[in-house]
Amino acid sequence: MPQLIERGLCLTCVHARRVATRRGSVFLMCQAAEDDQRLRQYPQLPVRECHAFREERPTETPAADPR
Ligand code: SF4
Repeated sequence: MPQLIERGLCLTCVHARRVATRRGSVFLMCQAAEDDQRLRQYPQLPVRECHAFREERPTETPAADPR
């Protein structure tokens, strides 16, 4: 089971979405919770262990054209 002690897993998970309110509050919503009843839609942070964690990979930028 993946673990990330310092910042919590949700911050780098593909299932996490930031939800901002009109008053400026920001929540983290777990989109995987829609299909997995073991997860909470709004998890208590920091999440240190999660069976559904999938690390978000930065998108690769294409190499510069050498011309
Ligand atoms: S799947 Fe787990 S780690 Fe990913 S956002 Fe949901 S609760 Fe956080």
